[in-house]
Amino acid sequence: MRIGVVSDIHANLVALEAVLADLGPVDALWVCGDTVGYGPDPSDVLALLVERKATLVAGNHDRAVATGEDLELFNPPAAAAAKMHQRWLSAAERDMLAALPRTLETSDVTLCHGSLRDPLWEYVTNPKSAAASLALAKTSHCCAGHTHVPSLFRAGSEPQPGRVGYEMPYPLAPRAFLNPGSVGQPRDGDPRAAYAVIDLGAATVTFHRSTYRFGETQRRIRDRGLPAIFADRLSFGL
Ligand code: ZN
Repeated sequence: MRIGVVSDIHANLVALEAVLADLGPVDALWVCGDTVGYGPDPSDVLALLVERKATLVAGNHDRAVATGEDLELFNPPAAAAAKMHQRWLSAAERDMLAALPRTLETSDVTLCHGSLRDPLWEYVTNPKSAAASLALAKTSHCCAGHTHVPSLFRAGSEPQPGRVGYEMPYPLAPRAFLNPGSVGQPRDGDPRAAYAVIDLGAATVTFHRSTYRFGETQRRIRDRGLPAIFADRLSFGL
């Protein structure tokens, strides 16, 4: 079973289309939250994920757009973008976001946005916080997003910085906490869209990057009147 894992699409349709094209056919598509927020095309991104029968969990931006929850915790441009998305989305689209679970167990993997200690807000950036989530998981492995940095932490392995290489399979065993990185707003200094593929039969994960026409997304962000910072940073992946 081959599973595409994506996160933090942030309404960047051009980046999502590039990732799905590179990904090719998969048996399942998992989305670790923050499907909306920041970007120009929240409705089209949601529609494409529904069409692809993706499995989604809620991110902090999804909750803020759907319900206004924790909007006061966002920096001013992020809050401004979330309020614009609130206006752009239909009631049905907001209801769909509001109904997303904070955690979801599937195929011996728990999906969440931040962590299992704090599904919406914790940033897992080191082996210790990854281990704390795995300790709470009823499944062997955990997939999350939120940091916008692809990473892999494995229980029992040597302490490692968590940063990953691309196009080579890593074993999941014995237990793995992985983050595919961000499709639509990468923040690791690489402007390409990030995603991962889990091969459940081989018990491996492989990380990938896709080049996409970020100039097109930048133009759409400016055209729709979103804060310019969300366009500018796409050039640098920061
Ligand atoms: Zn995010």
